[in-house]
Amino acid sequence: MCGHELKRYWSYCPRCSRSQTWRDSGRITGAECYSCGWIVSDKFSWCPWCGADIYEEGFSSEDPLSAPKGFRKDARCDAGCGGGVQYPMPYCPWCGGMQSWNEDRLFEGNCPHCARGVDDWMNSCPWCGRDATGRDLIPRALRRVRRLLLVSRVGDWGYRLLLRPGISGVDPRYPKIVEIEQRYVTGIRRRDEIPWPMLVGLITHELGHSFLYHHWHWTSSKAFRRAFGEVNKAYRGLDDTWVYFQRRRVAIAPTDHVSAYAARHPQEDFAETFRFYVTRRGRLRELFAEFGRKRKGVVVYEKFLVLHDYLRSLRG
Ligand SMILES: [Zn+2]
Ligand SMILES: [Zn+2]
Ligand SMILES: [Zn+2]
Ligand SMILES: [Zn+2]
Repeated sequence: MCGHELKRYWSYCPRCSRSQTWRDSGRITGAECYSCGWIVSDKFSWCPWCGADIYEEGFSSEDPLSAPKGFRKDARCDAGCGGGVQYPMPYCPWCGGMQSWNEDRLFEGNCPHCARGVDDWMNSCPWCGRDATGRDLIPRALRRVRRLLLVSRVGDWGYRLLLRPGISGVDPRYPKIVEIEQRYVTGIRRRDEIPWPMLVGLITHELGHSFLYHHWHWTSSKAFRRAFGEVNKAYRGLDDTWVYFQRRRVAIAPTDHVSAYAARHPQEDFAETFRFYVTRRGRLRELFAEFGRKRKGVVVYEKFLVLHDYLRSLRG
């Protein structure tokens, strides 16, 4: 035990990933599964935790029951045997049928490995024991991003990357949580899988949103507003189409933005400026030379200088 509080019947500790055995330590049912060692009832025919056949003549109930001593009935068996099952049993103790639980209201997201409920803070999935953040699926891109942040001298603001189903993005209410659409990575639909340099672009763009939300007070400064404008103006988050984030070269049009995507909204403008700043390793001289060749507007230089100065001020 690492000391972290566990919910009953979690298979793994979400903090230290140690596997758990929920025995009949309180001597409530007087029975444990021969296979997994978890608490069961003599009345069961199947272990609801590991799915082993535990039928015993004269003990196991011939008919499905609701809830024998030591157990609760939270739902009826999904397989339709008529017996009761308790959350979070993966198997029915009466017929052995697989159970699925709607955990949308219980957890903040879903494990990218087993799709069961997990919370943002969890390192390991309490159900399958694998990396609940999904970061193990994109080690190469993450190593690259960390390296780029380091050489660009962007200090760690405590961001937390999570692979999740849905859309990529950052919720302003949770500025440090950066969600990356897992479909792009796990290739559930192969054609959605994106090459890792693009993933680096997508992640650094989203980190830009996280950085800005985290330092939101900065957006009301005169220098910031002169460069990026009014970031508070009405904005509906877009499903950030990753195809935009593969370019490492500055676009010729539009004149006053580093990329076409940046022209959509001041928040996207900042996220794109941040992406270019980081993926180009904070080398302003090199970037400015490219701006010159591409006849970018003065304000584009200003955006990068404002970010550069702010990063320097953060370093104290
Ligand atoms: Zn078992
Ligand atoms: Zn059943
Ligand atoms: Zn899992
Ligand atoms: Zn964006």
